[in-house]
Amino acid sequence: MRYLFLCSILLASCAAPGGRDEWGHRPGPKGFKTVILDAGHGGKDPGAISRHTGQEEKDLTLDMARRIRSELGGSFRTILMRHDDEFIDLDDRVARANRHGDAVLVSIHFNSGPSHVRGPETYYWRVDSHGLAVRLQRGMTAASPAEQGNRSLVRRRLRLTRNPEIPCVLIECGYLSHPVESRLIADPAYRQKLAAAIAQAIRTQAAIGDAGTGPLPRPLYEPPSRPTDARE
Ligand SMILES: [Zn+2]
Repeated sequence: MRYLFLCSILLASCAAPGGRDEWGHRPGPKGFKTVILDAGHGGKDPGAISRHTGQEEKDLTLDMARRIRSELGGSFRTILMRHDDEFIDLDDRVARANRHGDAVLVSIHFNSGPSHVRGPETYYWRVDSHGLAVRLQRGMTAASPAEQGNRSLVRRRLRLTRNPEIPCVLIECGYLSHPVESRLIADPAYRQKLAAAIAQAIRTQAAIGDAGTGPLPRPLYEPPSRPTDARE
């Protein structure tokens, strides 16, 4: 019994040098000071393009990153993954995020799919990212006037949900393929409302950790996500 206890302590300390482990099998963060905002796509990669408004996902994600940064104000050190229309490979984004400790990463996207589907979605993989993912999805859902056929909160192994060594969540702020939602997303006032909800979710996570976000998901052991794995 004592021997087993000792072993589990040793294993735990080996698995999490310096409080970090590659799996993220621990409760979500509280009291973090740095927020990395990753505007999805950029440069040669436009992401989704709305056939209703002509807007490109890469421009909307950068706009959202800037709005979320301003909504967070001075209470966090906010790092933008990109500041302009620049292409950054997904693995480079992961490497850049891993330079920062005591941080969370929020990757910002807009969605595309069948024309009847609308509403925000949130993707996470790590156990330590579940609470923030729940808060982000709740906040965006409250700001969004309608949802239809969307997947809400999804646990999925993506390069930006599995590979970073810090808590990380990927948000899809709405469907550019939905005629009504796409026009709504074109309205800066709606994007500001979404940004405020996202910033509030981050603030709440920093203040109270996972409290009120339900039971933690079970640990999952999977290798890092590769470009050939799945859609991202
Ligand atoms: Zn995207």
